[in-house]
Parts: sequence; C-alpha cells; structure tokens
Amino acid sequence: MDEKRTEISELGEFALIDKLTDEVKLYKNETIKGIGDDASVIRQGDKVLLASSDMMIEGIHFDLSYYPLPHLGYKLVVANVSDIAAMNAIPTQILINIGVSNRFSVEAIESLYEGINAACKDYKIDFVGGDTSSSTSGLILSAAILGTTEEEMVAYRSGAGVNDILCVSGDLGGAYIGLQILEREKQVFLTDPEMQPKLTKYEYVVGRQLKPKARTDLIYEFKELGIVPTSMIDISDGLASEIFHIAKSSNVGIKIFEEHLPIDKETFETSAEFSMDPLTAALNGGEDYELLFTIKQTDFDKLKKHADIHFIGHIDKPGTGKILVTRNGAGVELQAQGWNHFSSKDHTSG
Ligand code: ADP
Ligand code: MG
Repeated sequence: MDEKRTEISELGEFALIDKLTDEVKLYKNETIKGIGDDASVIRQGDKVLLASSDMMIEGIHFDLSYYPLPHLGYKLVVANVSDIAAMNAIPTQILINIGVSNRFSVEAIESLYEGINAACKDYKIDFVGGDTSSSTSGLILSAAILGTTEEEMVAYRSGAGVNDILCVSGDLGGAYIGLQILEREKQVFLTDPEMQPKLTKYEYVVGRQLKPKARTDLIYEFKELGIVPTSMIDISDGLASEIFHIAKSSNVGIKIFEEHLPIDKETFETSAEFSMDPLTAALNGGEDYELLFTIKQTDFDKLKKHADIHFIGHIDKPGTGKILVTRNGAGVELQAQGWNHFSSKDHTSG
C-alpha cells in the first residue's frame, strides 16, 4: 500500500497546527479556551489564568553572529509577555527551557540569563522554573508563561464585530528593516572582518529588532479607561497575517487604509536602501510585538487623542474579505505572507 507523504511546506505553519490539533478534546470544565488564541484561558476562582509558550531556535529565529546573548534572553521573555498582553492580561510567572551545545561557555549562558532577569524585572514577573538539556548543535530556547485577569476582561481573536474600529499600537515594519541592516552588516563583516558595523544611523530600527518591548503598558491603560478591546492579537508574524487571524476567528471582513498605517521615518527611509516598499515591511515584517485590536465605536472618544494608538481601519461584514485601500483609493486583497518557517523563504520570528 502506498503511504502518501505530505511535505510540511505544502501546508505551512498554521495549517499544520490546525491539522495536528484537530482531534484535541478538552476534559476540564475550567478550560475556557484551549488552542487557537495567543494564550489559553483557564478559570481559577473568581479570576482566569492565562498560559502560553513560545520557542526560539538558533539559525531559525536568531543568528548569534549579530544577536548579543543578553538581548536574546530579554527578547525571549518579551515574546512570551506579548502573548499574555494580547489577551488583555497581566503576565505573572515564566518558566524557561534551554538546550545548549558545548560550543557555549558557562559565561555565555550566564549572559543570556542576564537578559532574562532584566526582562523579568522590567515586566515584574517571577522566573519560577524550567529545564536544561544538552543539544547536538546550536541553542534552543523555549518558555512557558502564565498571566492573570478577570474573565470579562479577556480579549480573544474571535470577538471583533461589524463596524468596530481596528487599531494598532506603535509603528510597523521597524523590526524587519532592523533585521535587514544586521544581515547586511554581517555580510560586510564576513567579507572583511576588519570592518566595524555601521549601525548608528539605524539606531531606531536596529533597536526594534534587538530590544523589543511588549505593550503591557496598554493593558494597564485600557483598564484605567474602562476599555475592553472586542478582539486583540500581538504582531509577531506581521500585520497582514494577524489581520487574517482576527478575520478568520471572528468570521468578519476587515478593511484597512494604507494612509493610516504607522511607519516610522527611519523605517520608511531605510526601506529604500533595500529597494523595498515600506508598505511591504509594515504588512509582512514580523516581530514588532505591537498590539492589533478592535474597539467598539462608542469607545473611540476614550482613545482618539492617544499618541501611540493608530486607527487603521474597521471591521466589515462577513464575506467582504481582507481589503487594503491604497493611497489612490483602490481596494486590493491583502496577502498574508507573514513568516513561514517551513517554506524555503528565509526569515526569523515566531
Ligand atoms: P503565536 O504566534 O501567538 O505564538 P502560534 O501561531 O504559535 O501563536 O499558535 C497558535 C495557536 O496554536 C496557539 O493557541 C498555540 O498554543 C497553538 N499551538 C501552536 N503549536 C502547537 C502545537 N505544536 N501543539 C498544540 N498547539 C499548538
Ligand atoms: Mg501571539
């Protein structure tokens, strides 16, 4: 009998997760949300517990020739914190697993932990455990994070309603352009090791890549303002990809406007050096760790003067697709490229 062999690249990451988790059943009454959002949601007394995990692998998610270990440790925590923030919850504890080859010294791993500890301090989370293993090659990092909030505060990917306003924090595409700079400087260094990298001109975008922040600040602000986003997701794979997730989970159409997309001046100008349209970086660059969320129109007044929140579009009726209205008024179907770890496309992110 011929056993059919399907290449993972035929499916891609998201279809693979869907296929693998198709048969998963939940046995516990307290599990409110299992697989399918930025974190799972578990009832715990009069509150809910959030749980999520994220992995980063050398050669896939990071390149140590330009990624300093303390920054990497910091980013591992940020990526996990961001998934809890994306549920409108506050992170509380983290566990960290490492697989290390003998290529690394004790001092090197200690410097990784400096970054982990610094992030735990900044986000006020307790580092409560993990696991350590040797690895045949390279560095493998993974973390599991817990968080907390009240059940009625949780923002799922699935709650967006027609006419809700689509908002994004911060600016987009910077982390991706920063990565392009680091890759370029690495090539220069490989050809001439005497060359020092020229990074000062690109401080903002390189910082967006090497020193990301998670937007827990907005979770506290939402609470103060009495806002619960109707849906929310963090931007780890790119705006377009996250728009697809909200549209699919909420079963709605989404319309966004190019003129409203926040792109920093340095991201904009540096894109040109790579002959890249900054719009592409904004739509498909990953790792910005900003929040993409929807609010009811009645909440708009509470946020309209916010310096760091941008109103980029709105939710449309089901079946209307994911549309980008360009500066000249044309409507084009969005393509969710995102990062695909299983395709031949080279990239980072998670
Ligand atoms: P994010 O980009 O926010 O980290 P992912 O796209 O990695 O989210 O995951 C989407 C959902 O699929 C999450 O609910 C996650 O827990 C779940 N998931 C991812 N990989 C697996 C896996 N191998 N087995 C079970 N669930 C998974
Ligand atoms: Mg996420």
